Amino acid sequence: MTVGTPADAALRQAQRCLHDIARRVDLNAFVVVDDAGALDDARRASTSSSPGWLTGVPIAVKQNLWVRSLPCTAGSRILEGLTAPRDATVVARLRSAGGMIVGLTNMDELGMGGSTELGTAGPTRHPTVPGRVVGGSSGGSAAAVAAGLVPVALGPDTGGSIRQPAAFCGVVGPRPTWGRVSRHGLVAFASALDTVGPLSTTVAAAAATLQTIAGRDPHDATTSRLPVGDLVAATSRAPAGLVVGRVRPHVRIDPEIEIAIDRAAARLAAAGARIVEAELPHAAHGLSAYLVLASADASSNLARFDGVRYGRRAAGADDLDDLVRRSRAEGFGPEVQRRVLIGTYVLSEGYTDAYHTQAARVRTLIIRDYQAAFDGCDVLLGPTTPEPAFLAKSRLADPLAMYRADEFTVGPSLAGLPAISVPGGRTQAGLPIGVQLVAPWWREATLLTAAAAVETEPLRSSLGPAAGTTG
Ligand code: GLN
Repeated sequence: MTVGTPADAALRQAQRCLHDIARRVDLNAFVVVDDAGALDDARRASTSSSPGWLTGVPIAVKQNLWVRSLPCTAGSRILEGLTAPRDATVVARLRSAGGMIVGLTNMDELGMGGSTELGTAGPTRHPTVPGRVVGGSSGGSAAAVAAGLVPVALGPDTGGSIRQPAAFCGVVGPRPTWGRVSRHGLVAFASALDTVGPLSTTVAAAAATLQTIAGRDPHDATTSRLPVGDLVAATSRAPAGLVVGRVRPHVRIDPEIEIAIDRAAARLAAAGARIVEAELPHAAHGLSAYLVLASADASSNLARFDGVRYGRRAAGADDLDDLVRRSRAEGFGPEVQRRVLIGTYVLSEGYTDAYHTQAARVRTLIIRDYQAAFDGCDVLLGPTTPEPAFLAKSRLADPLAMYRADEFTVGPSLAGLPAISVPGGRTQAGLPIGVQLVAPWWREATLLTAAAAVETEPLRSSLGPAAGTTG
């Protein structure tokens, strides 16, 4: 191996990244750093005969995805001591494409939360705006990208866990169509809504990552066989001819976010898109429906954590019931217990019709809203969140206030649609603003074309030794 070859570059890239991560432990973005694994990946990347977009790219993974032989606790005491038996499909695909997995990122316990203050590792600190939250639940991934530690990090998104922290930290965050990306090796939160996607410096990096992880997986029967298409190429296509529906917000949003959406619309129009008005008449009911449906799913998914089969087991129990009760009381934090209680309640006999069935009906209305909107346009444009990043600790005592950050992200989640948060500038106080685009099912390519046109000042990206030579 000679100095300066791409082979060498991967190893140096990994070393530099590990060094950078060590220098920013103050952020608490990473909960595990895998020096040995990253260097192994670097060596493998350097022998790759066909370097691609992700060859030698350092990648962080949210700690609710399996990374072979690393802990997988999803930020919960209930899973303490659990080690991932193998790589999640998405992680395996990234490694095969030459990506280097450098570590696991912080999150809200089991994906429930919007500030990355609710996991066992404590809060992640905002890399550019001290005193503000990074968003959640994929806040560690968002902070790692925003701080320039990695160009790409993975974060599942159930109701907004990729898009909301991406908006709060000023990075790119797409959620794919439900069924587009494998969830094999993901600790499930709400299976009807869970998706896996990247948080990244640029739209192009997001496209390269999505393209690598997307597609049918024999280990996940919910994945689609539909072709993924050339997502990287889609990011350099002009949005000329696209009809963009600007959605009227259903709740009050920060005026500076409104201005950012104006700017995004102007950029799309300047690039040849046509802007029209769009409406989602039932959007105001999205958050309630989401909380009922996601909590119902969560309560049945989390029923397997009983202190018997795996995870935390309480000591000193009198009998089996006591063991289960104590293990869960010790293992689940207050927000998770709240969701389990809501979920069990809305599924219980006598209440399903009033709550769960009703929420499912609302979900259908929301799906129809999107179908009607997409009759008149190709993508929808609106805010990712009603406000920029809020103050640290400010919503811990008020769960409903915490949930309100998800007002605009839960709609696409309920409908299973692909959506992306793109940086749309900053407020006068310097807080990042996210602009959300939503596309019809399976139209990630259209979504990314529009997103690339909205993207203003992409963060410095370093996409591998092959950057600039492929795609
Ligand atoms: N903040 C939302 C919640 O707490 C979203 C979570 C997610 O997407 N995992 O449910």
